[in-house]
Amino acid sequence: MTVITVYNTSEELERSKVDTAILPIGAVEQHGPHLPLGTDWIVVGEIARRVAEKLGNCYLLPAIPYSNSQEHLGFCGTVSLRPSTLAQTVKDIVLSLYLHGIKKIVIIQGHGGNWIVKPTIRELNLEYPDLKVIHSWPMGGRAVEVHAGDSETSRVLYLNENLVRRDKAFDNMPNVTQEYIDYVGMRPLTKHGHWGRAGQASKEKGEKLVKESVDKIVSYVKETFARLEELERTLPKRRSVIPKPPEEPHKS
Ligand SMILES: [Zn+2]
Repeated sequence: MTVITVYNTSEELERSKVDTAILPIGAVEQHGPHLPLGTDWIVVGEIARRVAEKLGNCYLLPAIPYSNSQEHLGFCGTVSLRPSTLAQTVKDIVLSLYLHGIKKIVIIQGHGGNWIVKPTIRELNLEYPDLKVIHSWPMGGRAVEVHAGDSETSRVLYLNENLVRRDKAFDNMPNVTQEYIDYVGMRPLTKHGHWGRAGQASKEKGEKLVKESVDKIVSYVKETFARLEELERTLPKRRSVIPKPPEEPHKS
């Protein structure tokens, strides 16, 4: 049950014959008056560590601290990569691993706004038929819990309660639906930056949520890789799908 990390040496990784990497993606963005800027990075790093321990035989990468947080840039301390920068970052990381035979990649997504990573995952899988990049979302919660609400605050309480400013964890429910974040950003919609019932958070709920997330990801990863391997055996061999540039027009 080897788990290799960046505290190991290159030689140790090579010798381990590990063929799977875990890549967590965090975010540095405002999380209301009660949670730290690094919440997503802290939580996803811990979830990924637990997933790696349960899976074994993997190379656990450090969580990418920055991702696409443009919707939070109206608040001080938020750092955002453009969608294209994040796409390119993920691609470069995956292809660096691929170069040395690590062809099964598990991306663990720590920030809801990063659904923009999906087309990159599709692109990698279709351009490199022997690569298997899969995506998992541990942060599923109720639809009302958009940002730094009950579930997220509970997770942080469970992982490290000293990080939560409990006296500032109150409920805040804007009167619009979530897509307005894409239209105007978080600042005009939420005076304090969070969206959800932070006042109802508890350590117990957080423990349940974190443990459930870890178990769900572990079974998703096992099932998906097994299914992909089965498809590889039973379906016709796939060829790389790379869109071709348009041909030169014929000269008359
Ligand atoms: Zn968050």
